[in-house]
Amino acid sequence: MIELVLASGNLHKAEEINSLLDNGIFQVLAPKEKIEVDENGDSFEKNAYLKANAYYQLEKSPVLSDDSGLIVEVLPGELGIHSARFGGEGLDDRGRAELLLEKMKDVPEENRSAYFVCFLCFYLSKDEVYFFEGRLSGSIGTEYSGSGGFGYDPVFIPKKGVSGLSLASQTDFKDKNSHRALACLAANKFFSGKLGLDRP
Ligand code: IMP
Repeated sequence: MIELVLASGNLHKAEEINSLLDNGIFQVLAPKEKIEVDENGDSFEKNAYLKANAYYQLEKSPVLSDDSGLIVEVLPGELGIHSARFGGEGLDDRGRAELLLEKMKDVPEENRSAYFVCFLCFYLSKDEVYFFEGRLSGSIGTEYSGSGGFGYDPVFIPKKGVSGLSLASQTDFKDKNSHRALACLAANKFFSGKLGLDRP
């Protein structure tokens, strides 16, 4: 069993990732302390690496980081790696989601495509660093709806879920199909193969 310290102070994320990873291989732990990392990379992958590296210097033991965000095709560069800061300081998750609806109010249905991205960085040692990516395709809805999930879930309509329902209204679907779940699945497959474990 490999213990991984999550490079984030977000305990909800530690729990979520722990439930998605193969617990016969990994256990995700909260860090000793939360550190502020300057996420100045120009990609999810670089920012995931910056966070993992910073926590590895502190913990000196295997670290896992996650960098994620929403890409909205008609707003190139506005969300993506900047998703958590969309609209500037002073907005909460709901404020950012509502600002997105407002900016998209005149955009026709065929141009509302969007997708979530998650990059996981497994920083096992300075010489052993692995990345896994997961994506979830869909579109931006026209209203804020649903009470599950977090962030942009209430305004995101997944392509493969129940037609027209936001991700916040179908948490069972999200648990199995989210960008984070898919990145964890890819990691589970890779590490179980690497360790020669027999998995169905
Ligand atoms: P971070 O990776 O925790 O910094 O999140 C980046 C931004 O993307 C935040 O604004 C999150 O709310 C948003 N985000 C990341 N994953 C999800 C998700 O699964 N659902 C909704 N929003 C998400």
